[in-house]
Amino acid sequence: MDAKLFVDICHKLYERKYLVGSGGNVSVREEDLVYVTPTGSILGFLKEEDICVVNIDGEVIKGKPTSEINMHLNLYRKREDINAIIHAHSLYSTAFSIADKKIELLTPEAEIFLKEIGYVDYFEAGSLKLAEEVAKRDEDVIILKNHGVVCLGKDLIDAYIKIEVLEEVAKLNLIVNTLSQK
Ligand SMILES: [Zn+2]
Repeated sequence: MDAKLFVDICHKLYERKYLVGSGGNVSVREEDLVYVTPTGSILGFLKEEDICVVNIDGEVIKGKPTSEINMHLNLYRKREDINAIIHAHSLYSTAFSIADKKIELLTPEAEIFLKEIGYVDYFEAGSLKLAEEVAKRDEDVIILKNHGVVCLGKDLIDAYIKIEVLEEVAKLNLIVNTLSQK
C-alpha cells in the first residue's frame, strides 16, 4: 500500500475543500485488507501512521476505522473491480442533492470519467441502512442525498479524479442554469 499517496490524496481532498472538518473518508483495498481513514480524523492533517487496517470481513487489525466502514466493505465485497473508495462532502455536488436536482454530464470529460451518476436517498450517516443502499448501486459515482458523494475507482487516483470531475461539472451545471435563466 502506497501510504504516501494515500496521505497525499487525503490532504488534496481537504485543500480543495471536497471535505471540511472531520468529514469524509478514504479507503484502499489490497487483497484481503482494507486501509482506511480513522473515525473523527481531519483528513487534511492525516499522517501515514494514522491509517487504519481492517480485513474484508470487518475485523479491525489496526486503529479505529471510520464510522462509514460498512459502506466501504459492502462496496468492496460487491465490486471486485474496485480497489479504492473516496467519500467526500463536496459542496456543489451535495447542494444539487439537497435541491433534489440531478447533475447533467455537460462535458465530454464528465461523460468519460463519470459515465453515469447513481443517487441514493437520505439515510443516517454511518448507518447500516446507508451502507446497504449504497451497495445496491452499480455506478462508480454515487450521490447521497443531503450528505455527500461516493466515488469508486480501480485505484486511488482513479477515485480522486471522479470526485474532481464531478464537483467541476456540478459547478458548471449551476453556472449554465443561472446564465440560462431569463
Ligand atoms: Zn459523510
